[in-house]
Amino acid sequence: MASVKVAVRVRPMNRREKDLEAKFIIQMEKSKTTITNLKIPEGGTGDSGRERSKTFTYDFSFYSADIKSPDYISQEMVFQTLGTDVVKSAFEGYNACVFAYGQTGSGKSYTMMGNSGDSGLIPRICEGLFSRINETTRWDEASFRTEVSYLEIYNERVRDLLRRKSSKTFNLRVREHPKEGPYVEDLSKHLVQNYGDVEELMDAGNINRTTAATGMNDVSSRSHAIFTIKFTQAKFDSEMPCETVSKIHLVDLAGSERADASGATGVRLKEGGNINKSLVTLGNVISALADLSQDAVNPLVKKKQVFVPYRDSVLTWLLKDSLGGNSKTIMIATISPADVNYGETLSTLRYANRAKNIINKPTINEDANV
Ligand code: ADP
Ligand code: MG
Repeated sequence: MASVKVAVRVRPMNRREKDLEAKFIIQMEKSKTTITNLKIPEGGTGDSGRERSKTFTYDFSFYSADIKSPDYISQEMVFQTLGTDVVKSAFEGYNACVFAYGQTGSGKSYTMMGNSGDSGLIPRICEGLFSRINETTRWDEASFRTEVSYLEIYNERVRDLLRRKSSKTFNLRVREHPKEGPYVEDLSKHLVQNYGDVEELMDAGNINRTTAATGMNDVSSRSHAIFTIKFTQAKFDSEMPCETVSKIHLVDLAGSERADASGATGVRLKEGGNINKSLVTLGNVISALADLSQDAVNPLVKKKQVFVPYRDSVLTWLLKDSLGGNSKTIMIATISPADVNYGETLSTLRYANRAKNIINKPTINEDANV
C-alpha cells in the first residue's frame, strides 16, 4: 500500500502577469503551500466568513518562482526528489506514473519535458535509466529491454505521436487485455538502445503534438500527452532466472481551466468541453478513490459501495492501473504565483489535496522461469 505522492510547484511570474502588475500570492514553507486572497482585508474574513489565507500540506512544495531565492527548486532538484524514485521503481519492477496537473501556462510541460538546456522529468528519467543500465558490468547476469511510446488524447481520441508515415495515426482504439489491462491497439512501440534514441523520438513526438492558440497562452496544448516507457529486465544471476517488467507513464495533462476562463468560443469551446471530459472524469476517479481509502483507514465506517468511473474517459481508462492500482504514482500540480489566477490556483490546490488520499497497491511485476 502506498499513497499517491503529491507535489506542488510554483513558477515565476510571466510577462502577462507582470504587465498586469499582478501581486504574488503564494508562500511556501517546507511542505506547506499558502495562498492568499487579496480581496479579503488583512486580519479579517470576507463577507461570507472566508479566510484570507489557506494553507495546504503536500508531500512537497517546490518553490520555483525566483531563481535568485535560496529556496529555489531547479529542474535537477525536482528530478532528484521525484524522478530518481521513478528510475529506482523501474529497476525494482514496479510500475510508476507521474502526472502534471494545472491550468494552461502554469508549467506542466516545463516540469515534464522542459526546455532545451533545461530539461524536465521525462528526459532526466530516461537518462537516469540508461546511465544505470550502463553501470551494469556483468552482462552475463542481466539484460535490459527498453521500449517507448508516445500518444496524445485530443477530443477523447487517441493519436500516435511517434508513427511517422502510416495511415493509422489518428483515432486508435482502446482495448482491454484480459491480463495486462487496457491498451491502445496499433500504437507504435520503439525499441531504444541509448538516451540519444529516446531524445530523437521525444523531439519528433513533441513536434507532432496538437497545439492551438488560446487567449491564455500563445501556443498552448489542448491535449493530454502520455509518454510510456516499458522496461524489461532479465536476471540470470540466481538459480531461478526471472524477468521483471515495469511500465512508466509520464503524463502532461491538458490545461485544467474551464473553457470559458480562457475566452474560448466555438470550436475551441467544444474542444475544451471534450478535454474536460477526461479531466472531469480524472477528478471523479480521484474523489471516488479518496472515499475508498477513507473507508480503509477507518474500520468503524461501514464499507460503502464506491464506484470508480474509470471507463468514463479515455484518459482514466488507459491509466487505470496508475490510479488506485498497481503503480507508484506521483502528481505534480503546477501553479501560477499571481493574484490574477487566484481562482484557478485555488482549484488546483484543492484538486491536489484530494489526490493525496489515494492509496495504490504497487507490486513487483515478476515472472519466474522465463
Ligand atoms: P503548461 O504546459 O502548463 O501550459 P508551460 O510548461 O508551457 O505551461 O509553461 C509556460 C511558460 O512558463 C513556458 O515558457 C515555460 O518555460 C515557463 N515556465 C513554466 N514553469 C517554469 C519554471 N518553474 N521556471 C521557469 N519557467 C517556467
Ligand atoms: Mg503544456
